[in-house]
Amino acid sequence: MKYDVIVIGAGMGGLTCGTLLAKEGLRVLICEQSSKPGGYCVNFRRNGFTFAPAVHYFNEFGPNGPMQEAFQTLGLPPEIEFCPQDPQRRIITPHFHLTLSADIDRFERDLIHLFPKERLSIHAYLDELKRLVKNIEGLSIKSLDLISLKEKSQLLYKFIKRPHLLRYRSKTSQKVLDSFFKDPLLKYLLSFGARKGSSIFSCASPIMWAIKGNFYYIKDKEVEALPQLFLRYYKTYGGEISFNTPVKKIVIEEGKTRGVQIEGGEEIQSRYVISNGDSHSTFQHLIGNHLLPDRFVRKLQKRESSAPIFTLYLGVDLDLTQMGFDGALIHYYHTIRKNPWEEIDEGGFDIEKERMTIRMDSIKNPMLAPIGKHTVAIAAFTPYELFTDGGHTSPHYAEVKEEIVQKIIGITEKVIPGLSNHIIVRDASTPLTYERTTLNRHGATMGWYLSAKELTKIRSQKTPIANLYQAGHWTFPGGGIPMVIISGINAAKLVLKSMKKFT
Ligand SMILES: Cc1cc2nc3c(=O)[nH]c(=O)nc-3n(C[C@H](O)[C@H](O)[C@H](O)COP(=O)(O)OP(=O)(O)OC[C@H]3O[C@@H](n4cnc5c(N)ncnc54)[C@H](O)[C@@H]3O)c2cc1C
Repeated sequence: MKYDVIVIGAGMGGLTCGTLLAKEGLRVLICEQSSKPGGYCVNFRRNGFTFAPAVHYFNEFGPNGPMQEAFQTLGLPPEIEFCPQDPQRRIITPHFHLTLSADIDRFERDLIHLFPKERLSIHAYLDELKRLVKNIEGLSIKSLDLISLKEKSQLLYKFIKRPHLLRYRSKTSQKVLDSFFKDPLLKYLLSFGARKGSSIFSCASPIMWAIKGNFYYIKDKEVEALPQLFLRYYKTYGGEISFNTPVKKIVIEEGKTRGVQIEGGEEIQSRYVISNGDSHSTFQHLIGNHLLPDRFVRKLQKRESSAPIFTLYLGVDLDLTQMGFDGALIHYYHTIRKNPWEEIDEGGFDIEKERMTIRMDSIKNPMLAPIGKHTVAIAAFTPYELFTDGGHTSPHYAEVKEEIVQKIIGITEKVIPGLSNHIIVRDASTPLTYERTTLNRHGATMGWYLSAKELTKIRSQKTPIANLYQAGHWTFPGGGIPMVIISGINAAKLVLKSMKKFT
């Protein structure tokens, strides 16, 4: 065999896995369909402005956090500075402004001031989240296939000793918020955009991160400095990478992987294959249902992906700092939904009713824009089907996109007065753009949609095919950069564990 391992995809999950395996002396090849590493963790430039289409904040990258341990495992130097972002976000509605910062007592006071009738519930809810943060601290996120029986019983014991985890792990955002609060507006704000059926952790995360001060940005560098660092070390360890190399098939013989077939038909052999790509595509296109157990296929077909996003990028000649902005994320609610859990399909969709997330990354990192100018990125959940027709790009794609752009600019003007007269650069990503650039089906932002039901299911990086593992946000433990780095380490360790069996 030419390679020990082939990794499909150079997203952060794939890069992590490849780096650890190359460091351990294995012959590794990463096949990446695009021309650069990082997947969603990249930047692009337009006329002197640098934008991040997706990843912009980092959790768990603080001192003594799990990512410091991950860097040590991978042998990476701490050459990227992660700065705490505080305040974390500002919530702006037509009626009031609210700040979420590490000063959680202030957040509580401000909430109580706005919703005096809910005083006791607000206090109780925030207290409960503080306890949850303590309960989660130090819990291992190793794949269950990697831990011994003794470690498993220790984990079980920890769960029993930490009743908050047991109490909340299968609760939905809706159920928990309904059990604490009556005011629909308060529930809507505290849902932080979580969907019906989502785990409580979807809506509680921003507050839990604020309690821990666990919200960072990369200082004086673009976000793609992170994948570039991983790639540099991966190559130093002897790892190989092939860009512009889409994998079209995972070759399987007698129930085991034998390598991959790339575009053009060439077959590259390897004993192990790790997929960092979308699960639908990995199993249904690169393998095929006929080679998979029926039960697995049925489960796969039933699972939902995370919701896609539309992002508008603007380069502006406005001095946003002088206008009073400080770089905190802004959640702008142009209108308030009566029912926070309303499910929106493309028919009932109106971008003006969606919550906008406004980022001004160049305030924290001036190198992202020419002197005196700034970057603004505005994102909102938008159905994929709005841009498609019978599974293909809609003939009205450009008009629909332009209409959304104009509406977003109009709405954002309520937060940044005069915006429309100061736009120098303009670009936008639809869910189709995200899909095209990373092959994440329908532009899914975080892999599988993590419902409360799914969260309770124990997962691993293993697959029904021998010697095929997954790394990234379509596998355990889930979406977001720290999670996919952990999944990459888990997948690499599973390969190493399996190899020891054979040598
Ligand atoms: C708009 C948006 C904002 C986000 N913001 C944040 C944030 O601020 N912080 C955060 O932590 N997370 C954020 N996320 C989530 C985060 O980006 C993802 O969870 C994470 O980057 C996923 O990493 P990954 O390694 O699983 O895969 P991806 O980043 O999806 O990369 C997969 C890679 O595999 C390649 N690939 C796929 N199939 C093939 C194939 N067949 N052949 C060859 N190559 C293939 C793709 O080209 C891609 O490079 C955001 C996501 C989105 C969309």
